[in-house]
Amino acid sequence: MSMKALPAADNSQTLDWHPRYEVVIGLEVHTHLKLNTKMFCSCAVIYGDDPNLQTCPVCLALPGALPVLNRSAVEYAVRAGLATNHEIQERSVFSRKNYFYPDLPKGYQITQDSLPICLRGHLDVDVPLNKTGKAGKKKAQPDGFYRKNIGITRIHMEEDAGKSVHAESALGSDDSHMDLNRAGVPLLEIVSEPDMRSPAEAAAYLRHLHGILCYIGITHGDMEKGQFRFDANLSLRPKGQQEFGTRTELKNMNSFRYVEMALNAEIKRQAKLLDAGEKVIQATLQYDVDRDEINVMRLKENADEYRYFPEPDLLPLIVDPSLIDKVREALPELPSAKRARFEEAYELSTHDAGLLTSSRALADFYEAATRLHGKAKAVANWILRDVLKVLKEKETDIEALSLSPEQLVELIQLVESSRITAKSAREELFPAMLTEGGKPEALMKSLGLEAVVDTSLIDGVIEEVMGENADSVEKYLNGDDKVLNFLMGKVMQKTQGKANAGAVRETLIRKIKG
Ligand code: ADP
Ligand code: ZN
Ligand code: MG
Repeated sequence: MSMKALPAADNSQTLDWHPRYEVVIGLEVHTHLKLNTKMFCSCAVIYGDDPNLQTCPVCLALPGALPVLNRSAVEYAVRAGLATNHEIQERSVFSRKNYFYPDLPKGYQITQDSLPICLRGHLDVDVPLNKTGKAGKKKAQPDGFYRKNIGITRIHMEEDAGKSVHAESALGSDDSHMDLNRAGVPLLEIVSEPDMRSPAEAAAYLRHLHGILCYIGITHGDMEKGQFRFDANLSLRPKGQQEFGTRTELKNMNSFRYVEMALNAEIKRQAKLLDAGEKVIQATLQYDVDRDEINVMRLKENADEYRYFPEPDLLPLIVDPSLIDKVREALPELPSAKRARFEEAYELSTHDAGLLTSSRALADFYEAATRLHGKAKAVANWILRDVLKVLKEKETDIEALSLSPEQLVELIQLVESSRITAKSAREELFPAMLTEGGKPEALMKSLGLEAVVDTSLIDGVIEEVMGENADSVEKYLNGDDKVLNFLMGKVMQKTQGKANAGAVRETLIRKIKG
């Protein structure tokens, strides 16, 4: 693996987010591991299955059932730790976190408390600078980036809880059901230091972390399915004050855009309290997206009392250094290194390189197409403009799109050799390729999209247009160059956009002057 050295982090450029207060944000991220079985039993991890089918005595918490740690989960935790610059602990300990909740049949969650598997990590995150727009009103392209070093306190392994389902039954009553398919699903919790100083930094950190975890293949990261979700802690302190203010916690968010909006709303709320000389009370909050409003869910007067103690049914976890080495060697190139390499190797802007490396599959697609085609710029243009547009419209990713690098390159080459005009390639052939598949050239022919290169045919149309627009021809001869575009438009219309514009222009001028 070759890792490119990245420019050093620059923490001096932190955005001045609020005129009077310094914003302090720390994030707790929960991510589901991309594993076939649960953390402490061999039940399958299946999303959207019928309730309670994926359960056994262990995850149902039947008396006497004993947990057995999923070995792959340990490897994944090590991989996540290394990719986020943590010190992997050779010895860590599972603990019981005791609380009562209907979706937690054991009455406790197995997690790691004071001795987690990864400690003291950090990420260098590129934060987009948006001088003009605040969150929610993003410009398509930021005014640049600054690099920020964000500390990560720890990563620990734990199991997910079940799910309460509040459904109206067939009889019309409001029933609550319990689905324990999710109970015991393997999770990592990644806890950041309170190092972020604006909602933009928080969103950039989350995007970056999500990108890395997906790149290294430890999670599907599907936010809709709750596979990557986060709690955001926020406090304000008067500028210059050392001591942190009281924090509140926005729970269970799963959208980068909404977390930014929520944090902005919470900054406003806290600043208003502090401005009025009131106190911020430690609380759990929820953000109402539709009303752009913060709701207080639960006040926390004291720290929650979970009565943690070491899990007596599991031995301390010992990670062999040889495993750590093995995982380190197998790490793929990480997104920020890939982006930096793309910027340099393919002469792309930071923004474009960021888009092209937003997923590993897209980056691989781009590099495969570039190798086939030879010109990185031409390929980048097509992907950035046309492919990304389709991905966005269809809300899908490149793997799900029926498009191969070979097909895209053939399409580009058809345009370059003037076999098809750029316009029909983009508007007709490309969409058809996505629905019909197959070779672009054959498809172009079968759809009758081939550019008219038969000059005798263009000649005929041009003569026709000249005949019908004698006055314009006259004007052009008298020095009015602009009417040429008008005449060209007429020719393109008659050839239904299939004539090669350069050839039409040339022939038109030759014929008028001749
Ligand atoms: P808990 O589980 O009680 O929320 P954790 O220690 O797991 O506690 O997580 C606390 C999170 O809150 C961390 O991400 C930390 O960086 C952040 N945090 C702690 N103090 C503050 C503060 N004053 N302002 C903002 N965030 C904070
Ligand atoms: Zn089970
Ligand atoms: Mg918390």
